[in-house]
Amino acid sequence: MSQQPNKIPKGIVNPKSKGKSQPRLHASMRKDTVKASDFLKYDMRSSCEDCSHFDPEKIVCTIGYNPALHLKAEQTHQYFLSGNMAFCRFIEID
Ligand code: SF4
Repeated sequence: MSQQPNKIPKGIVNPKSKGKSQPRLHASMRKDTVKASDFLKYDMRSSCEDCSHFDPEKIVCTIGYNPALHLKAEQTHQYFLSGNMAFCRFIEID
């Protein structure tokens, strides 16, 4: 009598049990670690408020990106929570 190999399910396997939310199918925002000494030492220009593409009246990015994670208040909040910040790769400072 031959032993059947373990069945390997196809597709994405939900590591949680049935009825739980499905795993994310896309990558989340990548955040970079900032050293605490650098955060305290430098006046960083890394938020939408410092960017040429930002419209402060409408609080929108004029080239179409979502500014929610790159606003100064949100970056600071995330930094205090985790030591990480989401930097926009398209920031342009005059
Ligand atoms: S390019 Fe990036 S940093 Fe500049 S306004 Fe848009 S989302 Fe914000």
